[in-house]
Amino acid sequence: MTTDTTTREVAPLLTPGQTRELDRAHVFHSWSAQAQIDPMPIVRAEGSYFWDETDKRYLDFSSQLVNVNIGYQHPAIIAAIKEQAERLVTVAPGFANDARSEAARLIASVAPEGLEKVFFTNGGAEANENAMRLARVHTGRQKVLAAYRSYHGATTGAIALTGDPRRWASEPANPGVVHFWGPYPYRSAFHTENEQQECERALAHLRDVIMVEGGHTIAAIVLETVVGTNGILVPPEGYLAGVRELCDEHGIMLIADEVMSGFARCGEWFAIDHWAVTPDLITFAKGVNSGYVPLGGVLISREIAATFDDRAYPGGLTYSGHPLACASAVASITVMRDEGVIEHARTLGAEVIGPGLQELAQRHPSVGEVRGLGVFWAIELVRDRATREPLVPYNASGAAAAPMAAFAAACKERGLWPFIHFNRTHVVPPCTTSADEVREGLAILDEALSVADRYYAGS
Ligand code: PLP
Repeated sequence: MTTDTTTREVAPLLTPGQTRELDRAHVFHSWSAQAQIDPMPIVRAEGSYFWDETDKRYLDFSSQLVNVNIGYQHPAIIAAIKEQAERLVTVAPGFANDARSEAARLIASVAPEGLEKVFFTNGGAEANENAMRLARVHTGRQKVLAAYRSYHGATTGAIALTGDPRRWASEPANPGVVHFWGPYPYRSAFHTENEQQECERALAHLRDVIMVEGGHTIAAIVLETVVGTNGILVPPEGYLAGVRELCDEHGIMLIADEVMSGFARCGEWFAIDHWAVTPDLITFAKGVNSGYVPLGGVLISREIAATFDDRAYPGGLTYSGHPLACASAVASITVMRDEGVIEHARTLGAEVIGPGLQELAQRHPSVGEVRGLGVFWAIELVRDRATREPLVPYNASGAAAAPMAAFAAACKERGLWPFIHFNRTHVVPPCTTSADEVREGLAILDEALSVADRYYAGS
């Protein structure tokens, strides 16, 4: 692979003013009341930073939507996309293609043993749709269990799996999805006092759900290995192994959604590597190529793949395994391996982000808890540490969300782009961010947390 690092100045199509104007006139945005938004044009980006139209620089503590794991404008990945574009820009999924073959081999090579085949999609939601379909056809069962406090995507099946308010407007959703509570020690659904109890009771609850739903009717259990947007919920030791055992007992497929947690985010190739558990299917997207070109997919176990050896798989996509996307994944995985990005992410979490956030928690009363691993951390903001009342209510918007809006504004004023969800801010910069850049971001968070502290009502 040639890594031509010379970047050519390419003139933008429009001025930032024209961009804004045409955006308002013609672009319909995700998850938004269209008249109430004013999307900021980003004019350039590099590494862990992006710049707005006034040339103001932001340190990106959100990695866009937690997908730019490799950082912005990595020259090796851009070169790979250019080379592939010159060679062969598109080919239907029914043909074989070198970029696709190599991307599948590389992805399987970093996955747990036994997951050898990849079905490519354009993103995370489609990956979960197809994982669900693979599990249903393989088992001949229909029902799927998914966790509350989860997000799996916005297509019909994926939104049905989702355990947060984004599902509500799409109901009644895909039938046959039943939700259960996963572990969350800080706000335990099981009134527990420690992680071990949380693990035991969460597993007992899941066992009961399987009992009343009928284990023999359940095709799959879907969970985010480490829950992402809904709070960076790291499973207690033993939980995932316990879920695996329950699945084995009942012939249920275990689907690990690693769309957000995979590819260095948790300091491993896949978050599941922390617990040495092997799912039957892993869904991925985001960090596989940092969204340089849309790509997602499903890693498939030998057993499930064998079901479709002599039986057609009833699913497909025009752009499954698109050469440009696959070439960027090959380059990205190669960079992650050769530049030690996984190890860097692990060390950054253990030595810089984790200790830095603990220190902030000691000084700011509004910090109820910090938790995470790798480059995947949450700060949970509260009105009262004793009652754990969240700084803003669950799913708050408008005036009720004002304290979080004030906190976010304080970050942005100081050149930090935060990730905000409900009463939390997540610390999720690119996995290639340097220790000094993280410290620069933590210093800004320190100042912005003083704004959050003003809303603290505890003693
Ligand atoms: N699964 C998880 C865990 C996610 O975080 C997301 C997106 O944020 C998705 C699935 C959906 O991915 P996409 O937006 O690429 O469809």
